[in-house]
Amino acid sequence: MASAPFSAAIVGGSVGGLAAAIELRDRLGAEIAVYERSAGEMQARGAGVVMQPEVDALLDRIGVSTRTVCVALRERVMLTRDGRMQTSPAPQLMTAWDTLYRTLKTHLGADCYRQNSRLTDLSEVSDGIKATFADGHCAFTDILVAADGVNSAARHLLSGEEARAHYSGYVAWRGLEDEDSLPPGLVDVLAERFTSFVDPGMQMLCYLVPGAEGATEPGQRRVNWVWYVNTPEEELERVLTGTSGTRYRSFLPADDVAAGVAHEMNERAALTLPPPFGDLVAASRLFMQPVQDVAPQPRVHGRALLMGDAAGTVRPHTAAGTSKAFGDAALLAEALKDWRSDKPFPADRLERWEAFRMQDLQVTARRGEALAARSGLGRR
Ligand SMILES: Cc1cc2nc3c(=O)[nH]c(=O)nc-3n(C[C@H](O)[C@H](O)[C@H](O)COP(=O)(O)OP(=O)(O)OC[C@H]3O[C@@H](n4cnc5c(N)ncnc54)[C@H](O)[C@@H]3O)c2cc1C
Repeated sequence: MASAPFSAAIVGGSVGGLAAAIELRDRLGAEIAVYERSAGEMQARGAGVVMQPEVDALLDRIGVSTRTVCVALRERVMLTRDGRMQTSPAPQLMTAWDTLYRTLKTHLGADCYRQNSRLTDLSEVSDGIKATFADGHCAFTDILVAADGVNSAARHLLSGEEARAHYSGYVAWRGLEDEDSLPPGLVDVLAERFTSFVDPGMQMLCYLVPGAEGATEPGQRRVNWVWYVNTPEEELERVLTGTSGTRYRSFLPADDVAAGVAHEMNERAALTLPPPFGDLVAASRLFMQPVQDVAPQPRVHGRALLMGDAAGTVRPHTAAGTSKAFGDAALLAEALKDWRSDKPFPADRLERWEAFRMQDLQVTARRGEALAARSGLGRR
């Protein structure tokens, strides 16, 4: 077997990091290793994911039919405050973060995926890069791809304090429930639809996604909802402190939401949301993510390359977070095509990758801010 053209350490083993690992290994033959901070099972931070062409393209390349990992919708429904519905046809495919994660990780294989590996340091060494992890492990590779998300440690190490994430002024309360655990009448109203409700300072949407084991058949799917709510920054300390006393930063898990906070949100839902959504919140175990912004960042730092949310975020209303990361990964593989570690480093091609992806990100980020502003979401 021919030796690998180069080696790559991928930091961050969520869907963006997995996409990069597959693109570099399958298309270029690179020797890859993925380093993920989480020690145990990964939490499904993204919940529902709207299927986009970049994700579809990678699934196709690894021989997975998109339909097998998606729930099909047929229409969009706008709810009014009193529960009336305005319906329009809108066929769409929806998947879930854990469905995608499992599909990509199965394809990649467990051998090159190392958990409990938190990046703590980066340094350039001759013709390569050295990555150090909290458990003392060191990796020496030709390139490092940082897909470690919105609070990227790699970005911090490479760019310093100025590259921090900023709170947008609103949070996403979420729910992800097995459809058979909800009242059947409620599921009937929501199935096969993208249902939404907008009121100044809040927005809620709901659609069904595959079940926890990936099943897409009626009866085995999950109901996924997101309720964006303006929340002053001063409130975050209280809301993001769990029953256990843990102060969460980017994700408040369902099993640790303080009872008082859950009660408040249920009351607010009953008072301000139309009936099916109020009922849905009441029947769900809430979890939460503050919506954070990272402005587009420089991506190429010698042999360390930022991608996905680490390189800049888009608001979730664009439904583009996952597809943006997959697009970064696919075009990174294009930029590194035909490169071997014994050849000059393709800095010019990587600069073009950076410029092109940065421009794409800026356009989507602006679109997301405009979509949020239309619902009165975020700081003014
Ligand atoms: C409220 C909300 C709703 C969203 N909804 C959608 C949606 O509907 N559709 C969509 O496409 N996208 C959505 N997104 C965006 C989506 O979650 C991300 O854009 C997408 O998962 C790609 O992210 P990523 O792989 O770059 O980073 P992430 O998914 O954040 O993964 C980063 C990984 O790096 C790991 N990590 C972090 N630090 C270290 C370290 N020091 N060392 C090693 N590993 C580390 C983390 O544990 C994590 O696994 C949403 C985001 C938010 C906040």
